[in-house]
Amino acid sequence: MNRTDIRETLDEESIRLTKSLGQNLLHDQNVLRRIAKAGDLSPTDKVLEIGPGLGALTAHLLPAVSQLTAIEMDRRLEAKLRERFGSESHFELQHCDALKFFAQPENQSADWSEWKLISNLPYSVASPLLVDLAAMPRGPERLVVTLQLEVAQRLCAVPGTKEYSKLTLLVGCRYEAGEMFRISPHCFFPEPRVDSACLTFHRRAEPLFADELYKPFKTVVKRAFSQRRKMMRKNLKGGWPDDKIDAAMAATGLDSKIRAEKVTLAEFVKLTQELQEGIEQ
Ligand code: SAM
Repeated sequence: MNRTDIRETLDEESIRLTKSLGQNLLHDQNVLRRIAKAGDLSPTDKVLEIGPGLGALTAHLLPAVSQLTAIEMDRRLEAKLRERFGSESHFELQHCDALKFFAQPENQSADWSEWKLISNLPYSVASPLLVDLAAMPRGPERLVVTLQLEVAQRLCAVPGTKEYSKLTLLVGCRYEAGEMFRISPHCFFPEPRVDSACLTFHRRAEPLFADELYKPFKTVVKRAFSQRRKMMRKNLKGGWPDDKIDAAMAATGLDSKIRAEKVTLAEFVKLTQELQEGIEQ
């Protein structure tokens, strides 16, 4: 589907794309091919696609896999997708909000480890979605996601930079960022105001911590970054007794004056383990 096809389809159906749903549709076939290639697909693969839109990326993925489950929130686009791919037995379409879908306990705890998620994500929900995917004990083995360049940079950030944030850690604790390529606004209809990037993540083969530690890890990271300019020790106060915080920071080898943005992922893991010591899970 090139830019003209997209415009014609939208005109025929009197569909006006909605900014609040992040409806910037990809039409550049080279970029779409490159995204599919980053999925490293094989005929037995199962793929999840969030926000298929009119199916530009779906058309590249569907012939290459054994199952594709797409989640689209816009009823108007859902109808077009059913028209286009409904006859394919390995295509499944859910009409719902992807955030609500993954929040359902049965989907949170399901085994997605044999799935790959490949999506041009709606930008407004990209960050919470990635955090939800990382929160799953058995999340998809690979994520190939197109998002705002600025968000991609935060996801790949290293300690001590302004991009290093809660998001870096909450996704990074379960996924390792791999290749990234930039996508120009010209590749979308309508053109977004910012640059985008396609980023590949691989689920960590060796978990950094036991599943029970994910929730406490998230609490520690959120508290630590609650006021970025403050010392981390002050941000953690109130969550645990002061002497426990001091002992945990010392055992992790952290200076008592350090700010969260300087603390590495491995140090956050160790700090969480120390803070949880003696607490029933
Ligand atoms: N994949 C298509 C493409 O590349 O041309 C469309 C991508 S567009 C950036 C985002 C898509 O996500 C839109 O089709 C939009 O309707 C859908 N969407 C937005 N919010 C959603 C949500 N919370 N759950 C599911 N789909 C959503």
